[in-house]
Amino acid sequence: MEDKVLIFGHKNPDTDSICSSLIMEKLAKHHNVDAEAVRLGTVNKETGYVLNYLKVEEPRLIEKVEKGQKLILVDHNEAAQSIDGRDDAKVLAVIDHHRIADFITNEPLYYLAKPYGCTATLLFEEYKKEGLEIDKVIGTLMISAIISDTLLLKSPTCTQKDIEAVKELEDITGLKADEYGLEMLKAGTDLSTYSSEEVINLDAKEFNADSKKFVISQVNTADIDDVFARREELEFAMEKEISDKKLNIFIFVITDIINTNSKIIVLGSDKDIVEKAFNKKLDEFDSMILEGVVSRKKQIAPQILDAAK
Ligand code: MG
Ligand code: MG
Ligand code: MG
Repeated sequence: MEDKVLIFGHKNPDTDSICSSLIMEKLAKHHNVDAEAVRLGTVNKETGYVLNYLKVEEPRLIEKVEKGQKLILVDHNEAAQSIDGRDDAKVLAVIDHHRIADFITNEPLYYLAKPYGCTATLLFEEYKKEGLEIDKVIGTLMISAIISDTLLLKSPTCTQKDIEAVKELEDITGLKADEYGLEMLKAGTDLSTYSSEEVINLDAKEFNADSKKFVISQVNTADIDDVFARREELEFAMEKEISDKKLNIFIFVITDIINTNSKIIVLGSDKDIVEKAFNKKLDEFDSMILEGVVSRKKQIAPQILDAAK
């Protein structure tokens, strides 16, 4: 077991998961907690852009934890999205902005959940409450995470708190959210070097509901057709995931970050659940367009969880 308290976000980490782990590390140290930000998967290109911009090193990769290991979770709480071995570990704190699902602990803990657009916005408030300085590095980690999770404040998950935080963080960092944010988001849309298996796992989240198991995976793009052109190989990779992980449904969401629409490809034995969720038939390519839909958390997962009941 490691002495340090390990801080991490969800598997297939996104910019919020990586940045909020680093932001939380500083807050934990401020409380004299010997903590280390780590990660549960590969750093994606969008997050890579941020770390490279700041010349901050990637957190260390971990794959499982031992019994009794002390943990702080950011940007997630669901077991299916967390570290292997967590049930026997000791969760000291959770800072999150997702639904709470199958989360049980043996001991009291610090649990901070708010329905903001980004975990980093919660941490922004905590820094201010504690009077802890937000320097340029921490400020850039915060603004990057918020821009990523809210798609430059355009997602329906974005709240007034996220907007206010970005305004203040622009002053602190000297960055223009629009300019810096678009470059950062664009860096994340480059899928050219990824295999189809990597593409469908870049931002995949597993959900368990009513004995059904499904994965919703999402990629950002500036051109849906570009990604959809790879449909056949992507479907092949999706079929493999379905049989390997015994999934009922695999939903691959291609999100146009410029026009804020999504196209989904759906495979699996229970794909009628998705048709029911959106009251719309899949076309001959197992796909449908979802106008104005960009948020898995608010506009896709709840509808499917509901339809699965
Ligand atoms: Mg996240
Ligand atoms: Mg988040
Ligand atoms: Mg996300």
